[in-house]
Amino acid sequence: MINENVDLLCEQLDKELCKRGLSRRDALKLAGVGTASFLLNPSEASAATKAVASDVKGKIVIVGGGAAGCSIASLLVKKLSNPNITIIEPNATSVSYQPGQTLIGAGVWQKEDILGQSQDFFPSEAKWMQDSVIEFDPDKNRVITAQNGEVKYDFLVVATGLQLNYDKIDGLSRDIIGSNGIGSVYFADGAAKTWPLMQKFVSEAKSGKKVEGVFTHPNTPIKCGGAPKKIMYLTNARLVEAKARDNATLTFYPNGGKMFGVPEYHEAIVKQFEARDMKWHYKHNLVAVDPGKKIATFDHSYLVKGEWDPDLEEFDMIPQVKQVKVPFDFMHVTPPMSAPDAVKKSPLAWQRGSASKGGWVELKKETLQHTRYANVFGLGDVAGIPMGKTGGSVRKQYTVAAQNLVDVMSGKAPTQKYGGYTVCPLITDIGTVMLAEFDWSKKPTPSFPLDPTKERWIWWILKVYMLKPMYFYGMLKGRA
Ligand SMILES: Cc1cc2nc3c(=O)[nH]c(=O)nc-3n(C[C@H](O)[C@H](O)[C@H](O)COP(=O)(O)OP(=O)(O)OC[C@H]3O[C@@H](n4cnc5c(N)ncnc54)[C@H](O)[C@@H]3O)c2cc1C
Repeated sequence: MINENVDLLCEQLDKELCKRGLSRRDALKLAGVGTASFLLNPSEASAATKAVASDVKGKIVIVGGGAAGCSIASLLVKKLSNPNITIIEPNATSVSYQPGQTLIGAGVWQKEDILGQSQDFFPSEAKWMQDSVIEFDPDKNRVITAQNGEVKYDFLVVATGLQLNYDKIDGLSRDIIGSNGIGSVYFADGAAKTWPLMQKFVSEAKSGKKVEGVFTHPNTPIKCGGAPKKIMYLTNARLVEAKARDNATLTFYPNGGKMFGVPEYHEAIVKQFEARDMKWHYKHNLVAVDPGKKIATFDHSYLVKGEWDPDLEEFDMIPQVKQVKVPFDFMHVTPPMSAPDAVKKSPLAWQRGSASKGGWVELKKETLQHTRYANVFGLGDVAGIPMGKTGGSVRKQYTVAAQNLVDVMSGKAPTQKYGGYTVCPLITDIGTVMLAEFDWSKKPTPSFPLDPTKERWIWWILKVYMLKPMYFYGMLKGRA
């Protein structure tokens, strides 16, 4: 069944590439993913045998069966000759393709296009416990679950992803998303409800009404830092398509003071915004919404000039915060995010420093091993490491974490290192993407020698036709 699906996706991809006169092999090379051999010959790849497997033993519990948990489970069953793995995951569609949610919000895809059934992707050699961990007790090598109580382990992998905290915004809750002009693509149903709101917004502009579109970015780390802007670019694209752009004002309200942490991408985005007459106001954090009146309230932080400091020979700059009320017809909310409560309150969370705020798992950033519990590894969005809350990071992390876990099971020190790679395919239009790849150096790290700050159609093809099969049939299967 899986091969039939890959074949279908490859057929779609070939049709699209044919219009551009490209073969699938050339397109994969051009997109810098020439190693994704399963896209060239799916049947051959699925028949691939296990590499030499290790005889080491031990019970592994993986908490969370999303992108990270499923991928590492699939790789571990290849690496171990007698795998003893339990995946604890409550959601039967945990492996769904979240990067597609932005496309759903703008009507390019439908919700069904991203859904994946966990049972089709979890390796058959692993046991799936459909349950939630409510307590981590690493001092006793156990977790406590909601339905099954205590589960003991020898080795633990924490891959719970993160928690969306809509209710931290006064007047807002997850249930309100999809009504009163308020959309959010951060969960699949929210994304599906965002599209009708966007359509209404576009049709109001087309009817001649002057309309306001507002797009937010909170004051916490978020998954896919590009998504708050992607949905804005797509709203712009839909307005242009409807010849209604002149009647709409589109404004981005990020909490930060830059468009992107990497200077080269920041500058490119500023130019793209200016070219599209999209506006922005930095240092605005959404704190309240009045859905009935359609008014958003932001805390705006800024500096005012204070006293002259004779020692430093400059004026003190005093931080101030004031509330700003902004009316909207359509608003896309990116909610504040944190580690799930069970992780946040556990001994596994950061105990010190700024990372402790989100309750992320305290890991050594290169080996992904816990800093205080040597038999615990973590990866994916819950990892308390710099940047990297993307599926692209997971793709690099799971191979590192899997091998390091096997090393530790064999009594050795971890041998593999994660270099901080992450990627944001920033959709700038329907048909173009800027592929922002970077790592801890905060420098662009393009996989292919093309100017990474340029918007290109080939990255649209990669985003819309190639990354989904790579995710489902490469990464989740532990082979890409
Ligand atoms: C709108 C949007 C756009 C995105 N765009 C991109 C993109 O273009 N490129 C990109 O690379 N990435 C993108 N991402 C990010 C990417 O999807 C995530 O980084 C990736 O899914 C992280 O994988 P994960 O396994 O850590 O978390 P998830 O895939 O979210 O999985 C975590 C799992 O843990 C489970 N869980 C949580 N708590 C518990 C518990 N207590 N007990 C048991 N199980 C638990 C959850 O049910 C969930 O299934 C996007 C995400 C969104 C939302």
